[in-house]
Amino acid sequence: MNQNVVVIGGVAAGMSCAAKLSREDPEARITVYEKGSHISYGACGLPYYIGDVIEDHNRLVVKEPADFKESNIDVRIRHQVMKVLPEKKKVVVKNLETKEEFEKDYHKLVIATGAEPVKPPFVDESVGNVFTLRTIEDGQRIKEAALSDKVERVVLIGAGYIGLELVESFHNLGKKISLINRSANIMKPVDQEIREVLIDELENKGIELNFNEEVEEIVQGEDGMVKSVVTDKKEHPADLVVVAIGVVPATKFLEGTGMEMLKNGAIVISDRMETNIEDIYAAGDCATIYHRILKKNVHIPLATYANRQGRLLGEILSGKNSRFPGGIGASVVKILDLTISATGLNEKQAKDGGLDYETGFIKGYSNAGYYPGSKPLYVKYIYHKESKVLLGAQLAGEKGAQHRIDALSIAIQKDLTLRELAYSDFAYTPPYSGAWDPLQVAANVAE
Ligand SMILES: Cc1cc2nc3c(=O)[nH]c(=O)nc-3n(C[C@H](O)[C@H](O)[C@H](O)COP(=O)(O)OP(=O)(O)OC[C@H]3O[C@@H](n4cnc5c(N)ncnc54)[C@H](O)[C@@H]3O)c2cc1C
Repeated sequence: MNQNVVVIGGVAAGMSCAAKLSREDPEARITVYEKGSHISYGACGLPYYIGDVIEDHNRLVVKEPADFKESNIDVRIRHQVMKVLPEKKKVVVKNLETKEEFEKDYHKLVIATGAEPVKPPFVDESVGNVFTLRTIEDGQRIKEAALSDKVERVVLIGAGYIGLELVESFHNLGKKISLINRSANIMKPVDQEIREVLIDELENKGIELNFNEEVEEIVQGEDGMVKSVVTDKKEHPADLVVVAIGVVPATKFLEGTGMEMLKNGAIVISDRMETNIEDIYAAGDCATIYHRILKKNVHIPLATYANRQGRLLGEILSGKNSRFPGGIGASVVKILDLTISATGLNEKQAKDGGLDYETGFIKGYSNAGYYPGSKPLYVKYIYHKESKVLLGAQLAGEKGAQHRIDALSIAIQKDLTLRELAYSDFAYTPPYSGAWDPLQVAANVAE
């Protein structure tokens, strides 16, 4: 009998899996349940949509359910899976339009339900202009509110990469921005040297920074809209608030199934995306990543992993012997005129992992100093003290930090030493680098 595969969640991991399986096994019967109104969209583009760099939210949508009409994929939007019954090999689905509930059987089940923004008790949904950001609808609501002339002061709670990308969005819209963060350790993947470059950029652009402040309350005005954000230090006037203090895997509906999870709810999976329950697989932000340096399962909710795990899972379900090699946390973010990128371990991770490490930090330049437009490029390395094998790298600069990190990511995955990196065969011409690229200068200096 043709296999009957049910996929829960229709964005990066779920649709990558369904599309790949459909191509590899055209006989498979694939059903995708998505509780939202959109599938296959780029949430990563939302800050640029809000900042009006991208005017139309439809540009973020890669595929519509109708695009799958001629295929063996049956996409059901506005359908939420309420429960998984592994012993019956069934899921309980609710049609969110009709409110009708029904059971659907499966041979193989894929959980690709992603993650959801953390909503602490001070987030009261009934207060106007208080938002979190995950879906296209969230983006539309935020943009519509932000474009009103009444919104002058924006308070962003949380200085992770989403909060920081939103700094740029609201800066583009000409808003006055206050950023509040519980600690001074903003942008967690990077260390203090790189963080300081970021803080300089934020201050130079007039962003009000409030670190080591704990939010206690979001105050509603008489008009029902947000009036201010009260912290343990002061009251910040606000016309619009976005809370971006992290995400949790969307796995609550699996309670009672006995599925193995990390403390935060991320589903523990093997390199073949198998959960501990037979015929149930998981991929993307709801699942773990095997960290290749730390040699353990961790949660790194990024689109890069969701897309790769989803596609590989499609291959696996079609019968191929594919395996996910794990990751080391490569990431890049653009904040105003600065790009920050990181890969491998930062100092905290190296310390917590009990590694004997040393660090190096240099201020280099994006291209030859004599060529117009050369900009500072800061390079930080974390390397093994004895072997000098590179363990982690971070870059910050106006130019050149976005793609160089990929070379460092490969260097780390291949266990290159600083010397091997310094003498790697890098290309050079003055508009793009120096005869010694800053990555090689940093390796020489550290060695
Ligand atoms: C503002 C923003 C910017 C980002 N920028 C970047 C970036 O620059 N680079 C990067 O690598 N990553 C970025 N990300 C992260 C990236 O968007 C996610 O890693 C990616 O979307 C994960 O894909 P996923 O398919 O695992 O989960 P999701 O995209 O969360 O999709 C899961 C889907 O499952 C549905 N669902 C959940 N539960 C159920 C249920 N019970 N029944 C039916 N459907 C359900 C949800 O409605 C959702 O549509 C960004 C995220 C945001 C919000």
